[in-house]
Amino acid sequence: MKKQQEKATGGSKKSEIFLAIFLAVTILASLTCAAIFALKPEFDTLGFLLTRFVDYGSEYQADYGKVCYGTVFGCEELTPEFSDAAVDTKTLGQQEITFNFKHGNKTIELKQTVFVVDKTPPVITVEKEKATICPSGKIANFGLKVEDNYDGELTDQATINYREEDQKVIINIVDSNKNSATYIMPAEVGDTEAPVVTLNGDAYVSIYQNNWYSDAGATVVDNCDEVELKTTGSVNTNNVGTYEITYSAADNSGNEASVKRTVEVKQPQRASGTIYLTFDDGPSAHTPRLLDVLKKYNVKATFFVTGSGDDSTILREYKEGHAVALHTFTHDYGYVYQSEENYFNDLYRIQNRVKNITGVAPTLIRFPGGSSNTVSANYDGGQRIMSKLVKSVQEKGFTYFDWNVSSGDAGGATTSDAVFNNVVRSLKNGGSSVILQHDTKGFSVDAVERIIQYALNRGYTFAPLTASSFAAHHGVNN
Ligand code: ZN
Repeated sequence: MKKQQEKATGGSKKSEIFLAIFLAVTILASLTCAAIFALKPEFDTLGFLLTRFVDYGSEYQADYGKVCYGTVFGCEELTPEFSDAAVDTKTLGQQEITFNFKHGNKTIELKQTVFVVDKTPPVITVEKEKATICPSGKIANFGLKVEDNYDGELTDQATINYREEDQKVIINIVDSNKNSATYIMPAEVGDTEAPVVTLNGDAYVSIYQNNWYSDAGATVVDNCDEVELKTTGSVNTNNVGTYEITYSAADNSGNEASVKRTVEVKQPQRASGTIYLTFDDGPSAHTPRLLDVLKKYNVKATFFVTGSGDDSTILREYKEGHAVALHTFTHDYGYVYQSEENYFNDLYRIQNRVKNITGVAPTLIRFPGGSSNTVSANYDGGQRIMSKLVKSVQEKGFTYFDWNVSSGDAGGATTSDAVFNNVVRSLKNGGSSVILQHDTKGFSVDAVERIIQYALNRGYTFAPLTASSFAAHHGVNN
């Protein structure tokens, strides 16, 4: 029994040893496997920045944190091979960018969300150290400027308040992304600042005697009040000399300021030559006043008249010694330039009118638009009518005139000043100036007195056109 027992016991011991060995081998194998598994290299992305905030308008620089490849025993830090997009920092909000990390032939793509945000408050600057509280209670301009990186200039949106307790001016501003800024500056009650008077134009002006002078004036601004500008002094363009004009202003608190302009009226430069004032398209309602001016200076001019206006005006032109010349009766391009026949019908019609008024049939003429006009080509059916007319008018005993000084009053010039300037700068010193003006234009007529004064002062003489005068021919274009 004992033996059997032993036998039985002996058999059970054997299987225990076997089991123990089996378990030991199994555990060892498992541990080895785990160790081998733990040591297998891979990407470590724990340090990668999944989200980021960048400032609006800042220069973008990629930042992805840390990504490496390896095991717990050693990890190699990687730099991304590429990121497929840069961040547009000029657009607020969320943007996604991709980073690609590579190790050997293994790659990993990681996406980062970037939030472009405006956290920058507006910048407040002031020019003055102290603000002025005007007697009226108004806070005087102290050169405030508010600029924001996102909204741009915000000066107009700032709130400006005066805090009486401690005599401070407080400026507040909030930008559209709710960033706010405050600026506090000392303030002083009472206005000690004078108005600022600034000259319009130059401080020194020189003109020739009898030249026309128009003062450009000055401008005044005051920190507290609406102030008026006072001008004293004047320029007598008839007398050579130095003149001073003073512009002054005073504010309600008695602060004063003034500026001066010096105008020198100089002896004019001498010139010579004959000026032929010529007036087309009249007579008109402006012609009598023109005749008055010509009479005042005893200047004789030439009128290329049409079928318009009063007979009495033409008679006056004639009686006062001006040349009454012909321009066509209708001045209708479409009619007169259709054919030679039409042209002469119209020309004789105006010639008859003048003859009936003055008793004299003029032979001095000017073509509507001048001999160089190209408008006639629109109506002449391709016959080059100007070439024909310049020949046939002369064959019929007429003398035609163009001009070599244009006042521009039929085009670019629309003011008396412009007419004056166009004329005087084109006068032919030492030669003949045939000036084209229209006595149908009031502003052009208004420039004549100044032109006469200017020219007489320099030594020019005036004359009416005659058949032997310089004709200022342009040359035909069609
Ligand atoms: Zn005309």
